[in-house]
Amino acid sequence: MKLAILSESPADEAAVQVLVEAVLRQPVAVVKPSLRARGWPSVAQVLPSVIRHLHFNTDADGLVVVVDADDSVLHTPPHDAPGYYHPRCRMCQLRGIFRKTTKNLPPAHGRTRLLRGVGIAVPALEAWYLCGRDERVTEAAWAAGQHRGVMPYTRKELKNRVYGTDRPTLAHETEVALAEVRRHRHDTRRLEYDFPGFAALASDLRSWKESLTSIASSSK
Ligand SMILES: [Zn+2]
Repeated sequence: MKLAILSESPADEAAVQVLVEAVLRQPVAVVKPSLRARGWPSVAQVLPSVIRHLHFNTDADGLVVVVDADDSVLHTPPHDAPGYYHPRCRMCQLRGIFRKTTKNLPPAHGRTRLLRGVGIAVPALEAWYLCGRDERVTEAAWAAGQHRGVMPYTRKELKNRVYGTDRPTLAHETEVALAEVRRHRHDTRRLEYDFPGFAALASDLRSWKESLTSIASSSK
């Protein structure tokens, strides 16, 4: 399987690749996206061009996008209702960009559309890196904090917990991120349970296998 990964830093992209392979249970070939993004809203801004570039200029099967939620509105099951779209939810926003950008693209490189994988790390990828190490850090804990108006932890505290500093070098950040996600490489269930924003990505990825199998069998 060939795919591109768009996230907020090269360290994030390396870690996301490990998680994608863990869900798909196979190694993947990574196509570099045409543009780099740094944080939100940069990812949302470059996404349409990245989708079009991958669709027309590469034979990538899909694109995985993972961003931090920061203080945005969290995606909840009611958002999944057909036609619903929450303008301040990053999951809804990114899915909306995928939908709008891929809708009228003509087929290219033997495929009708680029497959979509979207994950939102609540409140940031460092929370995923602490999964299984600190039981207080979950998407539900963050959602409860938003509800009460008292956050259980800050993003800076998460960074300190993960890297031992809130300003890690890229090399240190990458090394630590990879070590943490590799703990889940044989079983992603805990991460899916604690972080619905990761479970949504896992569900997108599992649907890829079905799409790719059906394309392969229909072209025989
Ligand atoms: Zn949403």
